[in-house]
Amino acid sequence: MLKAVFPGSFDPPTFGHLNIIERAASLFDDLTVVIAENRDKKYLFTAEERLGMINDLIRPWGNVSAALCDTLIVDYMKKRGIRLLLRGVRGIGDFSYEFELSMMNKALAPGIETVFMTTDPKYFVLRSSFIKELASFHGDIASMVPPLVMEALKTKL
Ligand code: ADP
Repeated sequence: MLKAVFPGSFDPPTFGHLNIIERAASLFDDLTVVIAENRDKKYLFTAEERLGMINDLIRPWGNVSAALCDTLIVDYMKKRGIRLLLRGVRGIGDFSYEFELSMMNKALAPGIETVFMTTDPKYFVLRSSFIKELASFHGDIASMVPPLVMEALKTKL
């Protein structure tokens, strides 16, 4: 049974995140989308709102679930006996950051393996922070986020 976690902020979830989830769901037996609740980070959506959106979006996949995490991801994984940590990469910029993060996690938890999945070319420009900025200027984000996220952004902004 190959279990993996896909951790992130998902503030808000985008088609880029969903593409990684969809592809990972066909590779792993069990995938948990882990939504970070970092007290030092400023989010637009609360942890519960992000969890609610992810729960709606992962409905098509029976082997995908979602959870909140306010501890180190490696501690979350160790507690549940999960060894595979999945991260998406859009390009070299992401990769250098993700590589350092994976080195830090390796030092903290040698038994955990980070696996990178490259983005689909259709989604490589999608970034939650750009989308929030675009939405705040009433830009067209219909091709970037699912309709329920678009509605949530409209309400929030
Ligand atoms: P974090 O704050 O942890 O980077 P994000 O929600 O921004 O959280 O991203 C979560 C994960 O999803 C990261 O591994 C990120 O690289 C990946 N990701 C975000 N957008 C895309 C995209 N468009 N294509 C592929 N991966 C993506």
